[in-house]
Amino acid sequence: MQLFRFGPPGRERPGVQIDGQRLDCAQFPDDFGPDFFARDGLERLRTFVRSHGNNLPTVPRGARLGPCVARPHKLFCIGLNYRDHARETGATLPSEPVVFAKATSAICGPDDDLMLPKGSQKTDWEVELLVVIGRTARYVDPAQALEHVAGYALHNDYSERHWQLERGGQWVKGKSFDTFAPIGPLFVPREQVADPQHLRLWLTVNGVRRQDSNTREMLFGVAELVSYLSQCLTLEPGDCISTGTPAGVGLGCQPPTYLQPGDVVELGLGDPEVFGTQRQRVVPFEARP
Ligand code: ZN
Repeated sequence: MQLFRFGPPGRERPGVQIDGQRLDCAQFPDDFGPDFFARDGLERLRTFVRSHGNNLPTVPRGARLGPCVARPHKLFCIGLNYRDHARETGATLPSEPVVFAKATSAICGPDDDLMLPKGSQKTDWEVELLVVIGRTARYVDPAQALEHVAGYALHNDYSERHWQLERGGQWVKGKSFDTFAPIGPLFVPREQVADPQHLRLWLTVNGVRRQDSNTREMLFGVAELVSYLSQCLTLEPGDCISTGTPAGVGLGCQPPTYLQPGDVVELGLGDPEVFGTQRQRVVPFEARP
């Protein structure tokens, strides 16, 4: 069973995918956000599906999918966490995880358009494994860290390199524009991922393969990252950690290559039947309500 959310932006309803079939769980009382994870939501959802399974309506094909988790309290990312990516950016390998924040207002659905920031010349892609916290984590050892993970999803950590690297200050500026964090389409409970360090990641731009790697190439694995972050802050249910991107971003191309209106970005993680895939069309900035 995988989880997803569907419907118009900001009014998404919960759903589950079982054996490839997408079922509408609008009758389930919780959205898939911090409270859901804090109050044993996955277990309650399994019970709900067991008792209502045959009566749940299917979600129409073509329905818009939202981010597979509702807005978390925190969204952190890890920089330079793949050896080949650190090399292509010219950075030295970090001795400790490079942690930065991304505004949760950047989160959007997996197939929503990517909106270029006003005047952007350097908007770039980053396919990543996203970790969703299930249980509060404070001073957790790596050996116990995965017990605090609820599950995983696909994330594209879009980055505007001019704002990230050339305007001084912290990376958060270049990472937080609206639509810069498509998450989903499917949330995969931890029990269904035998090894989070053995998942393929890939990304294409206009059909050209740009990134193709595996989470085994991470410098700091999921358990180490959860443990590390829990030494300096409290990870709460629903919080998200994006675990870094492998080589093949636009910044690393010779010459560097960035996104233009009309481009199409597609990406995937692990088994597409389990995690689903994303597809974003690149559009110019437009004011939205
Ligand atoms: Zn990233």
